[in-house]
Amino acid sequence: MGWHGVHPSLGLFAKAQGCDLLNEATPPSVAIIFSGRDGLRTVPNSIFLRRPPTQRKKFPSPGGHSRFNQSSTRGPKLPNSVFCLLSSEFRIPPTNRAYNSCVYGALIALLLLRLCISVCDAQPLTGFFAERKQMVEEQLLAPGRDIKNQRVLNAMATVPRHEFVPKALEKFAYVDGPLPIGYGQTISQPFVVAFMTEQLDPKPTDRVLEIGTGSGYQAAVLSRLVTEVYTIEIIEPLAKRAEADLKRLGYDNVKVLAGDGYRGWPDHAPFDAIIVTCAPDHIPQPLVEQLRDGGRMVIPVGALENQQLYLLQKQGTKVEQQAILPVRFVPMRRSP
Ligand code: SAH
Repeated sequence: MGWHGVHPSLGLFAKAQGCDLLNEATPPSVAIIFSGRDGLRTVPNSIFLRRPPTQRKKFPSPGGHSRFNQSSTRGPKLPNSVFCLLSSEFRIPPTNRAYNSCVYGALIALLLLRLCISVCDAQPLTGFFAERKQMVEEQLLAPGRDIKNQRVLNAMATVPRHEFVPKALEKFAYVDGPLPIGYGQTISQPFVVAFMTEQLDPKPTDRVLEIGTGSGYQAAVLSRLVTEVYTIEIIEPLAKRAEADLKRLGYDNVKVLAGDGYRGWPDHAPFDAIIVTCAPDHIPQPLVEQLRDGGRMVIPVGALENQQLYLLQKQGTKVEQQAILPVRFVPMRRSP
């Protein structure tokens, strides 16, 4: 497990809380951040630790891995806004210069850390970041909801949903329900987005097709979890707006097409997974054909009052399907 530089999401997390990333060095050295968020523990490919102040003088351990490990959390605790992130390849020869400068660097960083503790602690968790945290805890982790996939939960905690709703509805962005996005369409309820994403079982190497871009929010969530997202929206102004929003927010592994998603996107097929966020009255055959062998599709099917969300698994020429949730999506339109 190597760590090279600071994971971009870490910077975003720190920033979202009005905190500073103090040190952005690469291994062998240490990055120390201020954060009020336990969620940072899950930054990929990193070790994320809480460090007690009593251990400060021992840092770093000569000639070996850092002493900062899970067991070092005994003793008086730092305020929970202080975390330490460091490379698992933290190995420094005891006598060389690099080692010494690393020690001094770390000590200076710790001094700065000390200076800033009070500032960060004084700041309550507010704004959209806090609302997202609350959304995850109360809507996704709640009993009966039970979203379990940690990567999905992280994406939901990171993607700024308020950026995908009309400005006038921004303050409702994290409520437990869908919201209008114009042109008679809606952005799905956060739980439904998380549930469908979890059912899709996205892998980091996947290429995913979405039918029904809408606001672009579902595509943004997926883009944090897979290599590439292709998304099709039949209402052209919505497609254009979502494309612009995704670009503005830096989701550059998402490609948007204005068109009829019933036909899929043959140029980029086959897809590892397909997610459909509007409801056809039957499963479109072109989408089944554009799913790779072993691929998964999540799709609502049926009339408005009687829709079921289906999970499909393609195995050779066979397609297994199971109904997983009663839902209510806007109907899939067809272009002439
Ligand atoms: N996933 C969206 C919400 C989707 S709402 C989000 O995260 O915001 C469903 C969307 O499907 C609507 O925008 C609607 O215009 C679109 N849609 C309906 N029929 C379609 C079709 N045949 N092809 C592509 N998009 C379609």
